[in-house]
Amino acid sequence: MADKRIGVVGCSGEECLGGTISRLVVRKMLEELRPGITTSLCLPLFIAGGEEERRFADKYPTIAIDGCSKCCAKRAIEKFSNKVAGSIDICQIIGEEAAMDKPLSTRNLTDKHLEYVKQVSDKTCEIFDGLV
Ligand code: SF4
Repeated sequence: MADKRIGVVGCSGEECLGGTISRLVVRKMLEELRPGITTSLCLPLFIAGGEEERRFADKYPTIAIDGCSKCCAKRAIEKFSNKVAGSIDICQIIGEEAAMDKPLSTRNLTDKHLEYVKQVSDKTCEIFDGLV
């Protein structure tokens, strides 16, 4: 059977809600939505020179999920490895004002925040399924 793994890379943003959502969507893809064929890559390790992470992104399709329009994950993948197969700027899905709001602990997520996670997850699944 062909190896169908797809990398999903969150941006690790700690300064805004978009970064929080990015990390939550990666977990959801791994654990609930597309378990088994989703692989997460650690962006800080990737940037620091992690050879395994860079090899993975070179060989397999990756989807960058960025918390804001600076698109750190996408830029890092394309600088150090290969072109991304898909890219999400959370600002473009939930709006810039919401994405740039203050970050939250997962304990304090409201229904509105969970709806944002769902919107970004839906978009990630759409891109993901187009790559499988
Ligand atoms: S994409 Fe935006 S939220 Fe994510 S790490 Fe970069 S600056 Fe922070």
